[in-house]
Amino acid sequence: MSDLSKDIRYIKGIGEKKALALNKLGVFSLRDLVSFFPRKYEDRSTVKPIALTLDGESVCIEAMVADTPRLTRIRRGLDIVKFRAVDDSGAVDITYFNQPYTKDNLQRGETYVFFGRIEFKAGRRALTNPLYEKAEAQGAVTGRIVPVYRSSAGLSQKLLQQAVRQGLDECLEQMPDVLPRSVRESCQLAQTAYAYENIHFPADFDALALARRRIVFEELFVLACALGRMRGERINESGIRMQDHGIDEFWRSLPFAPTGAQRRAVQQAMEDMGSGFVMNRLVQGDVGSGKTLVAAALIWCCARNGYMSAFMAPTEILAEQHFATLSQMLGTFGIRIGKLTGAMSVKEKRVVKEALKAGEYDLIIGTHALFSNDVEYSNLALVVTDEQHRFGVGQRSALIGKGQKPHVLVMSATPIPRTLALIIYGDLDVSIIDELPPGRQKVDTFTVDESYRARLNGFIRKLVSEGRQVFVVCPKVEENEDDTVKLKSAQEHAAELAATFPDMKVECIHGKMAAKNKDAIMASVVAGETNILVATTVIEVGVDVPNAALIIIENAERFGLSQLHQLRGRVGRGQHKSYCILVSDHDGEESRARLSIMCKTNDGFKISEEDLRLRGPGDFFGSRQHGLPEMHMADLGADVQLLQRAQDEAAKLLLKDPGLNLPEHKELKSAVERLITENTDSFN
Ligand code: ADP
Ligand code: MG
Repeated sequence: MSDLSKDIRYIKGIGEKKALALNKLGVFSLRDLVSFFPRKYEDRSTVKPIALTLDGESVCIEAMVADTPRLTRIRRGLDIVKFRAVDDSGAVDITYFNQPYTKDNLQRGETYVFFGRIEFKAGRRALTNPLYEKAEAQGAVTGRIVPVYRSSAGLSQKLLQQAVRQGLDECLEQMPDVLPRSVRESCQLAQTAYAYENIHFPADFDALALARRRIVFEELFVLACALGRMRGERINESGIRMQDHGIDEFWRSLPFAPTGAQRRAVQQAMEDMGSGFVMNRLVQGDVGSGKTLVAAALIWCCARNGYMSAFMAPTEILAEQHFATLSQMLGTFGIRIGKLTGAMSVKEKRVVKEALKAGEYDLIIGTHALFSNDVEYSNLALVVTDEQHRFGVGQRSALIGKGQKPHVLVMSATPIPRTLALIIYGDLDVSIIDELPPGRQKVDTFTVDESYRARLNGFIRKLVSEGRQVFVVCPKVEENEDDTVKLKSAQEHAAELAATFPDMKVECIHGKMAAKNKDAIMASVVAGETNILVATTVIEVGVDVPNAALIIIENAERFGLSQLHQLRGRVGRGQHKSYCILVSDHDGEESRARLSIMCKTNDGFKISEEDLRLRGPGDFFGSRQHGLPEMHMADLGADVQLLQRAQDEAAKLLLKDPGLNLPEHKELKSAVERLITENTDSFN
């Protein structure tokens, strides 16, 4: 059997030089080579009558050379061969640059198949440098679907195609099947050899679809098995055992009763932490569902057990806010709370770090600064990361690595469609908070255009006179940022509002400000002194001001749906009826459709599903922000059905054979292990 890990330079016909060029494309082994899937395909399988070809279309025509090809030497280094070719429907002018031999290869009166890009020039059709072959000998360059690969300098498509062909010839016959036969059969998937042959050199489009389905499934299935196995392994990792000191004492100290969903999440997490194994739990809940309280309860529990917790927030503003909230909730129990953020002075940080090392805190709250190299913890037993989607899995694990296998709680409002949450958080247990605190009202949402400005200002005045506060979000910070469309800038808009409402306190906050100034402004907002806060999306995540009852989003068409939903979550957090006004003069159909979804529903999951549908998966998964390995073929956003199927099959299989030790799972096991080793970074 040929060894798929074999270096490509030893493959017949490849050799040193081509191997080096292929290495640049990330292709090192025979396996890499046959898994170097085409970026797209060129359809050279169907021949079109000339008269039906379109301007700019890449197409095959079957045509007779109508006059004797003429060779003209324009100057040294520039030869041109020109002639006209015809079929029953029409004619085309064909030109070859610097291919003088075409003059003799192409015979007047003979019929050839040409493949190239049609251009309309002065009312006539033209082809430049088309590929060609004799009509009766068709099949080498035309008459089929041709793969197009991602390429780099020094490698033509032709060379790449040849290299892949050689690779396939070397291993196709004995290609091991990663998928267990039962799975392949029950999911009606093509065989390996068929799939690899047809993904590169499809016989036709049906074959291509079958091949693609099989390869995508395989990829997702291996991923699902890898995640499932990691979870299995971690379940068995021993962790610090927490005693249950009666969480009711904590609940009773609150000014409100926890919701059923909050109690449930805390209960599940306490069971994890009391089990003797490490906890890896995701708490997922829509904005405003009260995730912070869940964390607070667990921190309380750890402190009662004499252990320390760390709470990591993605922004300074949020860290400050959590510091304030948690100090209020936990301070009364004598829990000692520290704060560590990048904005603090070196000296301040040093003091906190020393206290940390000496075990003087029960809880430390901070930003990324929490996992810098020089931070040492004593007795760290619980790591909470808020708004988990803002961190890479790597960052999360840097903090986890600080303690002795601490319990991990991640909290996220990222409205990921349910189907995808499964695979993205496949290595975590999930608690879903599906209940909002009582008395919450739906945030009424409207879309308006500029003509409503005066009425909008009247509405601001009315709410502020009732004692409420108002958020205004702008898509950019200052005026000079270059743009083709006129967008509201936070600074300018704040100045306008200050002029419109001279009796009100209008503040502006954005990411470019010094942390100190941001803190001061947020403090005045929380204290209720600021009436109108104009901001950029810095307030998107987590900011909690229950007295805010109106959020106005300028140039709303500039924001993604999920982002709008997050922003809207800044209001409607107290007992006051709240509103979200989306201001947009944009009348594109798509942006209208998006904004109308916002007006129709307050359900973050529904919104994210729509968002995914409208935007496509690119934005969702573009930045690898979920810490998943890159897929070669599968599109985690688009291949959702296959993903679910793969996930189900993987779960079934792991139940039967958790260690993948059965002989029929040998190939699968090595594929899973390969995926894990190749992606240690993203898997942590
Ligand atoms: P998120 O899930 O978006 O992080 P927060 O934890 O910030 O939500 O909570 C939102 C608001 O709801 C806060 O003002 C918090 O004090 C309040 N809250 C949380 N739980 C309850 C509850 N059970 N009853 C009433 N208010 C609650
Ligand atoms: Mg929050």
